[in-house]
Amino acid sequence: MQEDKLFTFVQALTLLVDEQVSEEIIFTKGKALLETLISDDDWLPDEFCKTHPEYYQQYLLFSDPLDRFSVVSFVWGPGQKTPIHNHTVWGMVGQLRGEEKETAYHLQKDGNYQAGEVSIFQAGQVAMVSPNTHDVHVVENNMSDKSSISIHVYGGNIGKIKRAVFHPETGAKKLFVSGYANALP
Ligand code: FE
Repeated sequence: MQEDKLFTFVQALTLLVDEQVSEEIIFTKGKALLETLISDDDWLPDEFCKTHPEYYQQYLLFSDPLDRFSVVSFVWGPGQKTPIHNHTVWGMVGQLRGEEKETAYHLQKDGNYQAGEVSIFQAGQVAMVSPNTHDVHVVENNMSDKSSISIHVYGGNIGKIKRAVFHPETGAKKLFVSGYANALP
């Protein structure tokens, strides 16, 4: 079964987090596991690849029963993009299909957020975010005529974590909890 690739990934990541490893190990060994998962694009069921005409979609693929990590497919229609946001936990973004653009944002002395480094991620590449390094960014589909899909892995159940979006000019912070497009058991 194609879905076994996701199961294999989840199993290996569970064994890794069981060892209560550091973020550095997550970003090396865990990243390698995610790279293996996204090296093939034949395992994600169609129901988790569906775009929405207006909003990028987040489908929960797995959440650890102890809330140590979650796996979510992000599906972007052409032109879709996030607001400036943070995560508050480590995150790895593996590009499965298409191309995404990430813009890092940096807090200024006056409280504003300023756009910084821009990175483009192609299928097979993994990006990382962390409150210990850079945690605030904007992500968008870099394809103007196609959908893009990435597999996000977070160091918690991202559907339960209170985090923030930031106003680009004022830096004003608004708390939110992201939802999932699929029904939860
Ligand atoms: Fe993000």
